[in-house]
Amino acid sequence: MDPKNVDLRQVAEKESLLRKKAEDALVKMQRFLFDYFYLLGPDPVKNIDVVVNTLGKVLGSDVALYNRLDGEVLRTWSIDHEPPGFKREDAPEGHICYDMTISHRGPSNMKAVVLNDLESTPWEALDANVRQYGLKSYLGFPVLLEGKVVGSLCVVDTRKRDYTEIEQYIIEAFSSAIRLEEERLLTQTRLAAANAALEEKNQKIQEMALTDSLTGLPNRRAIIRCLDKEIASLARRAHTPEDCAAFRGFSLVMCDVDNFKSINDTHGHVCGDEVLKLISTLLTDSLRAQDNVARWGGEEFVLLLKDTDTSGAALIAERIRESIAKTPFSCGGETFQVTATFGVSAFDNPCMTINDCVHIADKALYVGKDKGRNQVVVLPVRCFCP
Ligand code: GH3
Ligand code: MG
Ligand code: MG
Repeated sequence: MDPKNVDLRQVAEKESLLRKKAEDALVKMQRFLFDYFYLLGPDPVKNIDVVVNTLGKVLGSDVALYNRLDGEVLRTWSIDHEPPGFKREDAPEGHICYDMTISHRGPSNMKAVVLNDLESTPWEALDANVRQYGLKSYLGFPVLLEGKVVGSLCVVDTRKRDYTEIEQYIIEAFSSAIRLEEERLLTQTRLAAANAALEEKNQKIQEMALTDSLTGLPNRRAIIRCLDKEIASLARRAHTPEDCAAFRGFSLVMCDVDNFKSINDTHGHVCGDEVLKLISTLLTDSLRAQDNVARWGGEEFVLLLKDTDTSGAALIAERIRESIAKTPFSCGGETFQVTATFGVSAFDNPCMTINDCVHIADKALYVGKDKGRNQVVVLPVRCFCP
């Protein structure tokens, strides 16, 4: 036969073989892409597994790997099959041909690394894993994220390969799929961080809205919330008019600094503020764990004493009154005495409202002011039940 004809026939056979290979790859690709889209879900990390698995199947490789930098550490993120003896724990060192794939790569020169016959590649250029696992061929592609190479996607085989251009396009396309998942992961992480920061800010704003900025005590709004809660818990228990006889409720004590205006006038507004702060500390230190104290406004404070009747509350108020009266207040180089008057009321049944309770404590307080200040006044309890 004419040698020319032999050559032509060989070329035609080779071309038809290549075409057949390409067609097979495309058919496989179609099949696996169907699985791929079917398996994709909301979790980018799982999706990266799907991408790697699908790549391994489309290219008919023994192993498919995605190695990527996690901060400073290089990890095998996803692996489809494992070379015999390959341990995932070895992954930080197990970055098969990683450096070779990513070095000098960036958005403008992304390129596949094709090593059809690893044994004929200079061994010093390869890492120990290639030898350790007896790998014979390698196809890798860098993975880009926000303009930087962050990892390599690759397939390796324990047999020699002859990777075609189409197969190189395929791994490039899968590398883009990984990039999309990485972008989603990054967005999710950033969103979660932004949400956490927002949550923290909201929490702070809420705390600020419930805290008095001068004394650091809960403010009127905060104590009203506490009172509402306490009343709701009382309302959950059954109540009858007879309950007024057996006390089960809480007491409210209004505390008002005496002649505070003249403290401001004599020692200055800054000293007035210091007095309010010291009184806040004295109040806080005098209370039991279950009690609450708040700044009601101006130079007025309110105490919520749980499971305490008016006589118990009067005792506590008296102790605080004494403690304030005997505490020397120093400010601007001067030392002076401060006193306060207290009005006590009790919330002992759910037929009452907060306003009723505050009104009675206020009334008691004004009686104390009228009678000369620096004292505790309790008004007789009135049953509000019908
Ligand atoms: P009384 O014994 O009858 O309660 O007399 P008082 O002077 O304490 O009461 P009055 O209501 O006449 O005055 C209260 C003063 O408290 C007036 C106001 O300027 C002052 N005040 C309110 N809030 C603050 C504050 O945050 N800091 C300072 N320094 N003064 C305040
Ligand atoms: Mg007042
Ligand atoms: Mg006052």
